[in-house]
Amino acid sequence: MSEEEKTAGQKRAEELCLKPKTVYEGLSEEIREAALKFCVPYAEFLNRAKTEREAVKEGIRLAEDRGFRPYRMGQSVQPGEKYYYSNRGKSLHVFVIGSEPLENGIRISAAHIDSPRLDLKQHPVYEESGFCYLKTHYYGGIRKYQWLTIPLALHGTVCRRDGSMVDICIGEEESDPLFYITDLLPHLARELDAKAMGKAVDPENLNALVCATPFDDEKVSDKVKLQFLSLMNEKYGLTEADLISAELCLVPAVKARDIGIDRTLLASYGHDDRVCAYPMLQALMDCENPVHTIYAIFADKEETGSDGPTGMKSDILPDMIEELSRALGADSCVVRSRSKCLSADVNAAFDPAFASVYDTKNASYVNRGVVVTKFTGHGGKYSTNDASAEYVGYIHNLLWNNGILFQTGELGKIEAGGGGTVAMHISGHNIDTVDIGVPVLSMHAPYEVVSKFDVYETYRCCLAFNSDAAEQ
Ligand code: MN
Ligand code: MN
Repeated sequence: MSEEEKTAGQKRAEELCLKPKTVYEGLSEEIREAALKFCVPYAEFLNRAKTEREAVKEGIRLAEDRGFRPYRMGQSVQPGEKYYYSNRGKSLHVFVIGSEPLENGIRISAAHIDSPRLDLKQHPVYEESGFCYLKTHYYGGIRKYQWLTIPLALHGTVCRRDGSMVDICIGEEESDPLFYITDLLPHLARELDAKAMGKAVDPENLNALVCATPFDDEKVSDKVKLQFLSLMNEKYGLTEADLISAELCLVPAVKARDIGIDRTLLASYGHDDRVCAYPMLQALMDCENPVHTIYAIFADKEETGSDGPTGMKSDILPDMIEELSRALGADSCVVRSRSKCLSADVNAAFDPAFASVYDTKNASYVNRGVVVTKFTGHGGKYSTNDASAEYVGYIHNLLWNNGILFQTGELGKIEAGGGGTVAMHISGHNIDTVDIGVPVLSMHAPYEVVSKFDVYETYRCCLAFNSDAAEQ
């Protein structure tokens, strides 16, 4: 329709009303093609990096390929130099020193690389009725029933009694065995099916079947347990005593795969939050000669509250800013006050199957681009970084000016539940922070779904943020 043919009301509506756009209305075919390509290596990253340690290793590999070098606290740095810093192998900081003074602020982005899973308990191995099992303690928010009868892989690291470390990964190769938690057959589930879903699975029963053969010796008890330990000893040199100094977990033994005949949706374990971590890292590495110092964080422990030295509540970020400030002759208080941050994490995509828990006017939707989430939290906006109008305005304008498709999001209806991100732990250091990220279907399920276009818009959002030369 030409401009002359539009009625006064149509023109007025275009001027005044904000209409949401899908990626098919808001993005060129060229950008949509680029999005599909971008998600091919993303899927490989997902398959290689299922735990925070694996994500750090993969992040370092990608960064080294692009000329990044390890950073040591206290060393000198120069504009244009590219570094990474591994915090205990469980969180990763990657940065490029900008061409202008550090006191003009750092462009920080942060995403987490831990995902909900089943950690092994300290004494995990036991035998019962001819089976050997591993006892688990779930990590992060899970719906327990989703972890029954799915293929599970064992990942992790063990510190042996001699002090040596050994990495374990069983269940990812086609030829590997898998681990498995049983469920009750429907024929005998009358009583169980009458229970509330949240009570149907006792967390102490999330025990994985790992061996069914006895050790061939009449003189020993717990023969199946001994057979399991014996096989683990042959392969990894482990004893039961080593397992009390281990970080082992069971994760879904599934690979990232396209969903739907059109192949624009991608399913994987742990999109939350590698679906933001991967684009964020690429956007840092793809930003040539940044004006501001740009800085990306792979954070650990977000799913359990960001505690500990590798979580975002630790002093590692202000310490690193202090170190860089010292090296570049800047005042770290000034640096933090002028820095900006994108807290990159997923949001709950509207799901028509569960429409009643969403405010449809404020929910995020699959295929509408990157989500800007002003606040998270629960109830009366408790436990949230509620970004200022000035800062969300700056981000919205940056996205509009760069032709990046975005939407806003709120995590469900006001009292339906709630959740948080690392945003408040960063903004507490006097750094303007806002949440951005990818809308996810079935968040925290063993197999989550995202739109490849939304992933790419998140990448373009992080790239525009890193490339922006605005003074503050
Ligand atoms: Mn998350
Ligand atoms: Mn999460």
